[in-house]
Amino acid sequence: MLQIYNTLSRQKEYFKPLHEGHVGMYVCGPTVYGDAHLGHARPAITFDLLYRYLMHLGYKVRYVRNITDVGHLEHDADEGEDKIAKKARLEQLEPMEVVQYFTNRYHRDMELLNVLPPSIEPHASGHIIEQIAFVQKIMDKGYAYVSNGSVYMDVEKYAQDYPYGKLSGRNLEDIVTETRELDGQQEKKHSFDFALWKKAAPEHIMHWPSPWSEGFPGWHMECSAMGTKYLGEQFDIHGGGMDLMFPHHEAEIAQSCAALGHDSVHYWMHNNMITIAGKKMGKSYNNFITLEQFFEGKHELLEQPFSPMTIRFFILQAHYRSTVDFSNDALVAAEKGLARLTEAYQRLMKIKASAATELSTVNCELSTLATRCQEAMDDDLNSPIVISHLFDSARAINTVFDGKGTISEADLKELREVWKTYAMDILGLQLDGVQDAGAGMDAYKGAIDMLLNMRLEAKRNKDWATSDKIRNELTALGFTIKDTKDGFEWSL
Ligand code: ZN
Repeated sequence: MLQIYNTLSRQKEYFKPLHEGHVGMYVCGPTVYGDAHLGHARPAITFDLLYRYLMHLGYKVRYVRNITDVGHLEHDADEGEDKIAKKARLEQLEPMEVVQYFTNRYHRDMELLNVLPPSIEPHASGHIIEQIAFVQKIMDKGYAYVSNGSVYMDVEKYAQDYPYGKLSGRNLEDIVTETRELDGQQEKKHSFDFALWKKAAPEHIMHWPSPWSEGFPGWHMECSAMGTKYLGEQFDIHGGGMDLMFPHHEAEIAQSCAALGHDSVHYWMHNNMITIAGKKMGKSYNNFITLEQFFEGKHELLEQPFSPMTIRFFILQAHYRSTVDFSNDALVAAEKGLARLTEAYQRLMKIKASAATELSTVNCELSTLATRCQEAMDDDLNSPIVISHLFDSARAINTVFDGKGTISEADLKELREVWKTYAMDILGLQLDGVQDAGAGMDAYKGAIDMLLNMRLEAKRNKDWATSDKIRNELTALGFTIKDTKDGFEWSL
């Protein structure tokens, strides 16, 4: 049975959905004012793993991942302007052009990483009415106040009735000392109060009418409003990066409790962060490497390009709650590990079983392989253990491939099933040597096989010119071709 670590209770809990057979899951998505970087890949892949596993377990999952395109209060300190609006103003674009441009690029990056699209991908800017209604509910319950056209959460009042800070383990005194001096501070009763609605300055280009002012919602509001709209007042799982725990998720809990009188989320899940050479990613370190830069190898910190599957594998090799440190060496090691798995998978598809009556001579504890993979996934999504089981069974595959052992028909069938289910479907690793060819995949693979079979025939006929031409031209296109005792192996 699946156990997941609930950040709120600080322990692993057996997962029991609110509605049998159905799971509602909300994950905080990207703010689309720039390209996705390595820090975006981790939550996307972590919750993709969870989404895939829940579906494997037979649940019908409604997965909501939002697009933050307005109201992110992480302003440039001096200007207090929304980053999307700022970019639009500087580049003389309609804000929605900026949003669409970066949303398209985010989707492309996610597709390359083999991250499945969510069931619903709501935009904050498309849910202003719902956000205003949510703020109004909080006002009606007396936990918010209007100041100079903006609406703030009255955190002190709220904390008298509900435990504020329970997710991040903070108390109000800690928060006071942590709060930076931000725009609007002088309008608030207390520094820890946060904006539910902000009055727009005259130069601000993204604003909507509301009962309080022409303005825009506070950043935390979108997730409360859209989460409850699409998943109900109570839903199963809310995920995101650990960096969102405070203030974002803490504020979401406060908003829900204030408006609805109860928590909305049953299981809070947070992935740990990625550091680069031991340092947090941040502007001041100049170490933001975008995913595109990884794929193309174009960043001063990168010694070579790394494929999207290498990035995915690199992230899945660590448990989602441990930190991951990026370095070229670590990624090169991941690249090699992935190549070994890819080779084993392709050999697995080629090896033949011994006669039906014979038992396997290879010992890879096949009878328990599927169970052990499932146990690892059930243990709070322990992907590194699943990967180590796959590596163990790769040794058996290679032994059979090299003719030093045999495998029975039943064992071979089981082994192929486990690799397809765990490596391909659940870990989402594309091990067939071809990435993202979609519906054209079979045709594409068939065409390469056909060329290499023609090359084999040419070799048999001692037509070396043709055989070399095919090999050289495929190599020039980026294919790796290996001659084996039964024919050939290739990868891109
Ligand atoms: Zn959120």
